[in-house]
Amino acid sequence: MKKTVLITGGSRGIGAASVKKFSEEGWQVAFLYKEQDDAARAVAEETGALPIKCDITDRDLLRESIKAARVYFGAVSFDAVVCNAGISISGLFTDLSDEEWEQLLKTNLEGAMYTAKFALPEMIRESRGSIVLVSSMWGETGGSYEVAYSTTKAALIGFGKSLAKEVGPSGVRVNVVAPGVIETDMCRAYDSEVIDGLIEEVPLGRIGYGDDIASAIYFLAGEEASYVTGQVLGVSGGFCI
Ligand code: NDP
Repeated sequence: MKKTVLITGGSRGIGAASVKKFSEEGWQVAFLYKEQDDAARAVAEETGALPIKCDITDRDLLRESIKAARVYFGAVSFDAVVCNAGISISGLFTDLSDEEWEQLLKTNLEGAMYTAKFALPEMIRESRGSIVLVSSMWGETGGSYEVAYSTTKAALIGFGKSLAKEVGPSGVRVNVVAPGVIETDMCRAYDSEVIDGLIEEVPLGRIGYGDDIASAIYFLAGEEASYVTGQVLGVSGGFCI
């Protein structure tokens, strides 16, 4: 029987690269996305993965979508869940609106937390599986002009470590990936001079790609990492050491 994985934010960027990686490795893949139907369709056609349109900030819809993925797989539980969907809003902290803060918190932190919450009961019952949370190096180092974003990503690290301790005895692993500067739509929204300046600080001397992160996610999700839990794997070309 094929292994199963649910990936949030699979229509573009790091999530899309992860959908491709797991599919190439023979896993059955379902992914959630918010609104970009064409991008989701393209990923689904290329990989055979199941796209599910679901805004992860809508808790009822998220619960139903996770159930739908399980039904589609015909499986009691998932072998892996990748909480990747996220947004970034940058600007001075003092300029941040209440709506922006809530949007960041609901998507980056609560979206991941509730994805895990809704997927976990069956994983615990089956005593297997792993969760990979996609944080950011800014969650480790803190980021000026990215205070709120960095805060959600730091919280995700605390969540992952705590959850790993709680569900480890039930046979479920939880790990975190902390990407550096990765070439995706999120990153393209920034001024190219800013990106070039950041890349100058990368010891490996280049921007990261979705595939770089997908490989790390795949490693942590699968059997090769069966004795790894509660860890934060930085994939930043050495930016954050
Ligand atoms: P992209 O903007 O390229 O893609 C974001 C993905 O998340 C899309 O699939 C989008 O769906 C989905 N998404 C966004 N909001 C929601 C929502 N409310 N409900 C469901 N899906 C949603 O981002 P990246 O690939 O760059 O980022 C992926 C993760 O990696 C994020 O958590 C980000 O914070 C993190 N990260 C990225 C870095 C980078 O440099 N790119 C660096 C460090 C961390 P749709 O296509 O429908 O909009």
